[in-house]
Amino acid sequence: MARKNPVPQATNSLVLDCLNQKCPSCGRHMWWDYSDSRKVRTLKEVIKLTLKIKRCPNKECARYHKPYRPEAEGKYA
Ligand SMILES: [Zn+2]
Repeated sequence: MARKNPVPQATNSLVLDCLNQKCPSCGRHMWWDYSDSRKVRTLKEVIKLTLKIKRCPNKECARYHKPYRPEAEGKYA
């Protein structure tokens, strides 16, 4: 079913970065690869989250190029 009301404007914005800077599998430094954004509605406000996604650059690693999302994302969604 199609949305009848427009998505509300964000009243607050947050940028979330990964706390863990090293790959949990091989321990090498992970590079920031891309950003993802989403809106989260709470009872008080609408928050625009900008997530900085990292990936492991080590080709021999089991987590090679698998996205590592900010840990704090789970707090909001
Ligand atoms: Zn790795």
